[in-house]
Amino acid sequence: MAMERQERLVTLIISNLRASIAYDQESVTVWDDSVVQVRRGEAASDWLDVNLGSWMHTYFGHDGAYVLDPANRPIYAFSVTPTKAQDAYRLIEPVVAPLVKDLRQRLQAGDTSGVGGRMLSPGAADLMVVQGHPAVVSVKPIVSDSGEIDQIPGQEYLHIAVRYLDGNFINDLKQNYLFEGMRFAWQNNAAEGEVGLPLLSDAGSAVGYFIWRPYRPGSAVLSDLTPLLLGVFGLALLTIAVLLYVIHQRSTKLVASEARMEYLALHDALTGLPNRAKFDDALDEALGKLKQSSDSLAVLYLDIDRFKQVNDTMGHPAGDGLIRSFAERLRELARETDTVARIGGDEFVLVVPCRNAGEEIEPLCNRILASVRQPFDIDGNQVFVSVSIGVSVAPADGMERTELTRKADIALYHAKSAGRGRYARFGNAMDSMLQARRQIERDLRVALARKGELAVHYQPLYSASDMSITGVEALLRWKHPQKGWISPAIFVPIAEETGLIEPLGDFVLREACQAASAWPKLTLSVNVSAIELRNPAFAARVAETLVASGIKPQRLELEVTESALSDHAGQCEENMRALRALGIRFALDDFGTGFSSLGRLQDFEVDRIKIDRSFISGFGKAKGDEAIVQAIVDLAHAKGLKTTAEGVETSEQGDYLKDIGCDELQGFLLSQAVPQAEINSLLGLKGKRGVASAA
Ligand code: C2E
Ligand code: MG
Ligand code: MG
Repeated sequence: MAMERQERLVTLIISNLRASIAYDQESVTVWDDSVVQVRRGEAASDWLDVNLGSWMHTYFGHDGAYVLDPANRPIYAFSVTPTKAQDAYRLIEPVVAPLVKDLRQRLQAGDTSGVGGRMLSPGAADLMVVQGHPAVVSVKPIVSDSGEIDQIPGQEYLHIAVRYLDGNFINDLKQNYLFEGMRFAWQNNAAEGEVGLPLLSDAGSAVGYFIWRPYRPGSAVLSDLTPLLLGVFGLALLTIAVLLYVIHQRSTKLVASEARMEYLALHDALTGLPNRAKFDDALDEALGKLKQSSDSLAVLYLDIDRFKQVNDTMGHPAGDGLIRSFAERLRELARETDTVARIGGDEFVLVVPCRNAGEEIEPLCNRILASVRQPFDIDGNQVFVSVSIGVSVAPADGMERTELTRKADIALYHAKSAGRGRYARFGNAMDSMLQARRQIERDLRVALARKGELAVHYQPLYSASDMSITGVEALLRWKHPQKGWISPAIFVPIAEETGLIEPLGDFVLREACQAASAWPKLTLSVNVSAIELRNPAFAARVAETLVASGIKPQRLELEVTESALSDHAGQCEENMRALRALGIRFALDDFGTGFSSLGRLQDFEVDRIKIDRSFISGFGKAKGDEAIVQAIVDLAHAKGLKTTAEGVETSEQGDYLKDIGCDELQGFLLSQAVPQAEINSLLGLKGKRGVASAA
């Protein structure tokens, strides 16, 4: 666009030049003085030179000026290249003649085209080569400005002005219009990056060419902006680089935090050991490998014994400390190929690939047990704990993760119930025992809902001095629809484990109180599990039942066991204190079994001791149980406690117990536990049969 504009500009300047030369001429050709002077011919040459020649040169920059008479003979010539008039004109005559001829014809014909506006007289002009220069040549008649001098049309003197287009003109163009490198050339020899514009005569032939380097505002803008653009580009690059760096940093962090999250998802926060999810994966993987070999694999389930007690008595931070140290010991004992995981509060598991499980597992378990027996240092305290271990082995016990873990868990259960601090290898008998226990639990729930299967029987207690019935002990009975009678020695521990003991205990107490309301002279003994005693609502529930049945609290004696009391002593004591305050009495059942010792008797606030039947059955044998029982009775009396002997089966036993001062007797010799109706008849409520035979 800029180039086209420049070309149009040059064309316009040249056409303006043609008009302005003619206009310049008229300042002297339309003038009476000139008409008069030219008629004087060469005589007026000085005047002509001053007014029509050199003046035009100095004032308008014309390069040549000629005056022709009516016969077209030059009477005056001015040229920047000085020559005599005739000679000078002769040099340009060939090219100028057609213009001169054309003008004279028009003057003769009175053709006034082009006259008007600024232009006062007709004229002829064209582009042509004059004396080796491209030039604008303009021819004008010299006419009167007043009209007072007569002239014959076509016979006027003519003034010719020449203006070269190279030289000064080009320099002016260059300077005034900023045409870079503008030059004139006869041929269009524009170099690369230049343009050539032909100078066309009216006939359309090229007189020559103006050649210049066109103005390119685009590239100028570009070159001006280049540093800025480079700067912006550099800045953009820098920004991108910074962004890339930031993204890289972020993604590195993201990868790290993802890895951290994955670690946290698969590890236990407290010990850093793999958690259950990771253990599952590890075991699956190990079992996968096992399929291709003849090796075996052991799964060890570990559970810290009585961990809850550590937590309860020393606080949770101490419990956490114990877990951490315990985990550390396990890690030390494990080999590179073993997996140690923590899968629950105090539950750990080991996956142990081995050649021969039968030979390797026992020593490993013994090492673990021995290591754990060493005291743990928790906050400066020496803590003694033990661990129980259940073991299952692949492929003997299965090749499936869930099956192996279930069996290790069963073995653990057995290790616990066999007394803790030991390990047990899974055996199929364990499984069926466990299934049987589960079955009992299910059936017991059904029995509780139906009630028809459960009943309470009563075993009388006899005064040793006169053999009268002083009370009864309520004993739970369960007649299973398929299995028949099931001993409470079997289902009570299961009920204790599963929480069913609470509704069971409730049932017994309500039944017994109701029955005992018919036996106002007897005391009522009811067995109470430690699980029930731990429940803070227990005392209130007993009180409620007593009120509902109208039994005086003084008639009720609750039987508790010593070993059960040692756990959770606090909560049990709380209930016992409340119940004692009501007037209810307590008996220590099965005394002499478990951890009982004579020395600890005073720790328990009880009113009676029931001497375990294992002592009574030992009478007459070498162990010397008679002496022990005598010592118990003496000590109890010294403390103001009553004694009852359990499991009296022979009259010798009964006689001996009477002799050493035992207060009450209970046993098959006297009566088994019998239904409520039989107690009624024993008491003579419907006859005196039972008492007579017993006596
Ligand atoms: P226990 O409280 O020591 O009850 C005495 C057990 O000894 C009863 O067994 C009774 O039948 C038995 N027995 C009584 N005299 C003799 C005898 O001369 N020789 C022999 N060999 N045994 C005799 P039972 O009824 O099988 O109860 C077993 C245990 O189950 C009870 O021991 C008691 O600890 C528990 N139990 C029974 N009923 C309940 C209950 O309602 N609640 C709770 N928590 N435990 C109960
Ligand atoms: Mg009892
Ligand atoms: Mg007992």
